[in-house]
This record gives sequence, structure tokens and C-alpha cells, in this order.
Amino acid sequence: MSSGEIRKESRGEFIKYWNAVWFMVGTTVAGTVVEPYLGYRTVGFVFLLSVIIVGTFGSFGVVLFAAGFSALAWNFGFIPPRFTFSISEPEDTILCVVYLFVAVITGFLTNRIRLHERLHRDREERMSVLYQTLQDISESRGKKEFIQKVTSRMGLLLSGDCGVILKSKEGRLDLSSDKSYQMKLEIEDQKVAQWTFAHRNAAGWSTETHSASSALFIPLQGVNENLGVFVFRPSRATRRLGPDQQNLLDSVVGQLGISIERHFLSRRLYNAERIKDSEKLHQTLLNSISHEMRTPLTVILGGAAALHGDQVKDPYVLKIADGLTEAGERLNRVIENLLDMSRLSSGVLALNLEWQDISDLIGVVLSKIARSVAGNSVSVEIAAGVGFIRADFRLFEHAISNLILNATQYAGASAAIRIHVYREDERIIISIEDNGDGIPETSRAFIFDKFYRVPGSAPGGTGLGLSIVKEIVELHKGHLYFLPVEPHGAKFLIELPVETQPYVPPEAPAGVI
Ligand code: ADP
Repeated sequence: MSSGEIRKESRGEFIKYWNAVWFMVGTTVAGTVVEPYLGYRTVGFVFLLSVIIVGTFGSFGVVLFAAGFSALAWNFGFIPPRFTFSISEPEDTILCVVYLFVAVITGFLTNRIRLHERLHRDREERMSVLYQTLQDISESRGKKEFIQKVTSRMGLLLSGDCGVILKSKEGRLDLSSDKSYQMKLEIEDQKVAQWTFAHRNAAGWSTETHSASSALFIPLQGVNENLGVFVFRPSRATRRLGPDQQNLLDSVVGQLGISIERHFLSRRLYNAERIKDSEKLHQTLLNSISHEMRTPLTVILGGAAALHGDQVKDPYVLKIADGLTEAGERLNRVIENLLDMSRLSSGVLALNLEWQDISDLIGVVLSKIARSVAGNSVSVEIAAGVGFIRADFRLFEHAISNLILNATQYAGASAAIRIHVYREDERIIISIEDNGDGIPETSRAFIFDKFYRVPGSAPGGTGLGLSIVKEIVELHKGHLYFLPVEPHGAKFLIELPVETQPYVPPEAPAGVI
């Protein structure tokens, strides 16, 4: 409390004492009027009544003062011998002492009743404001509406302006928002708001922190989240909130925080459900399209293979057959990717893990895609003692062929492709490197995302290949990395954990059966 406020409060208390004095002087005058008719003892009752009345407006100190003052005034002005403080009759002495006790006790009790009544009234008022706040929240159609209603109600009740500053999606206090419930703040006040948000403590006007500010900042919190800051700017900065007003403000801000958090949660749930629904639809479409395309594609590839038969010698027809086969294989790869993606994301894929010799695996892949890499110089280097990997043959074959076909597709049909398999610490690394243009730095963070294609990529892809390779590698407890190659080129590394190797019987010497 500032020294000015302390001075103001003690002045208020002094006025109450002063009023009590005047009240007692008035009662003494009234006593002198009544005394000739009703006797000095009745005057004692008049004094007692006035002490009870003082109890209804003064503090306990004021009541004590009024009781003492009135006992002395009664004794001095009315109890014989008059105009002295001595008392002649012993029963008058007892009467005067009992009067003092009764005056103090009744004054004190009146004072207590008044305090209780005030507390009760404050509590009722708080309950009614809270009830109205809840009603505002439940009747509103959205977050904006209920925040607006609650802030304007609190502003009216506490005589000032109220506003709310919420955090942005990135988790920072959104001071630039132009929402109607947002309060415009000066630079200095913005700093106080930031402080309140970061420290989750009230600051500003009428607090110990940043007290020079013209507004009070209270952290707005839900059950689990720090949501923003509630701002109250009083219309008269010198005034201070009473404890009951402060309590009321804290309760309303608490309720507001919980409601905003609930609103955020339900919106997130709604968005998550929408994404789930759209993913389901996406999945169904993907499945049906890829299945529907498979049958005509098999017919086309079969027809192209038939045209390559011995009977056909016409170079024009053979060229068409080559074109058909190439396009068919490309389409087949896209369909394979789509099918694999739908199987992987549906989670129904059961891994068929078996020990695989990596050189065999790479050999099979290269023979299958021989036609596509015919123009490239492909070098394969497998370090001695690499060992076996435990993998699903079909899936791993698909992953490696995707990486090699990407190299030929994006680095160019005549680019050099290097496949290098080696062991590093407790990992087996399969590296597939080309000397093409590589991947621009701005795209590197996204290449493993589903449906992402580097802007300007040649047509003929879906952006699914690398994300499928990543999922397949991770299903095998491995990791997939991209590394740029100097001066140009792209390198993809599949890193797999080394597992306890299977027993391989030593090769029998020649001639021994
Ligand atoms: P898709 O090949 O179907 O477009 P991918 O997921 O396989 O999808 O590849 C994503 C993007 O990464 C491609 O659009 C391509 O631009 C880029 N990319 C992949 N591999 C290479 C590579 N070896 N060299 C250059 N760019 C590549």
C-alpha cells in the first residue's frame, strides 16, 4: 500500500472517531432534556442506544471509544454528585461499571453483525456475478462473444475498462491482434503484459511489480494451459480494488480462463476429427483408384510384351511397344507407391522379416529396373563383412528401387549412380548417390513429406516415393537421411541397426560332398 493510500485510510478512521464524538455530545444534550422527567438512570439507556448505533458504522476501536466516552459523560453529567467523576451511591458505581461492560459487548456484537452482513452481501454479489458470467458464457455463440460480454460486465462493475489478450498459435502473446475484446496497449504496458504471461503472476497497477502501469494485468489460465492475459484499466488510477472486488475479479478471470481453454479444446477436437474423416476418404479413394488402374495396366504391359515377340519385325511397331512398356512401368511404379502408402498408413501391413543378403537384394533390384537405368553408369560397392539384414524382401526391394529410380529420373538418364554398402559402428549404411543437380536447400526439409515435390520437378511423380521409403526404413527400425553432394548431386543414406547375425556354415572345400 502506498503512503498516500495509508494516509487516506487513517483519515477515514479519524473521521469515524470524530463522528462518534459528535454523536455522544448529541446524546448528552438529549440526556439533559430527558433527565428531569425520567431520571439519570434512564439516560444510561439512551447512551447505550447511541453506542449500539455507533457499532453499526464504526470499527471495534470506535465502539470502545464511544462506550468509554459515554460512561464518563453519563457519570460526569448525570450520576450524582453531578459535574464530578466521583459517585456517591455504591449501586450507581456498580451500574456505571456494568453499563461500560454492556456497552462494549453490545457495541462489539452490533459491529460483528454488521461485518457478517456485509461479508454475506459481498459473497452473494460475487455469486450472482459469477452466475451471470457463466450464463454469458453458455448463452454465447462463440469465444469472441462471451469474452466481450464478460469483459464489459466486469468493466461496469469495477468502473474501468477490461480486455483480454490471447496467445497466438505459436504460443506467444498476440499483442497485434485486432479482436474487439483486445485492449490497445502502450509499449510500456505491452512489456508488463509480456511479463505477466511469462511469469504467470499479476503485475501492474495496485501490485508490487511494474506498479507504475495504469492497468492491472492478471494471467489468464486454464487447467492445463497458459492462455493469455486479462487487463483491467481503472477509470480512476488512484483508487484501489477492495479485497472483495479483487476476489471477484480473480474468480471471474479464473472462470473465463477455463471456458476459453474448453473452447480451444473443442475446436482442436473438431479439427482433428475433420482431418481423420478427410484422411479416411483420401485412403478409400487411393485404394479404389490404384486397384482400378492395375487391371488395365496389366493388359497394356501384356500387349506390349506380346508385340516384342519373335513374329513382329516391324521397327515402327517395336518402337511403339518400347514406349508402351516404358510408360506402363512408370505408371506401375506410381500405382505401387500409392498401394504401399495406403497399406502403410492403414497400419494393416504385416512385416515378413527374413535374413537378406544385401548384395542379392541390390542385384534383384538392378535386374528388375535394368531397362530404366540402362543409360546410367551404375557402380555397386559392398564392403567386406557387412553381413545380413533382417528385412521384408518385397518392401525393402521397393525402397531401394525407389531411390535408384529417383536418381535416374532427377539426375538424368546418363548420370552416374553409386551404390555403396558399408558398416559404421553398430550400423549398416546403404548409400545411393548421384551426380545430378541435387535438391535445393529450401526444399530439403520437406522432401520426406507425403505428396511433396520440389517445385519445377519433371512431371511423372506423385511426391510419395521418398515418404514411402522413409516409412519402410523406419518400420525396420532404421533411419533415412538426405545429404547434399559436392559440387553437385544427391545422396540418400539408409541406416539400419546391426542385428545378431545368423549362422552361416563355412563353404565346403571343392570336391567334398
Ligand atoms: P516423386 O518422385 O514421385 O516426385 P519423391 O518423394 O520420390 O516423389 O521425391 C520428392 C521430390 O524430391 C521429387 O519431386 C524430386 O524433385 C526430389 N528428388 C528425389 N530424389 C532426387 C534426386 N536423386 N535428385 C534430385 N531430386 C530428387
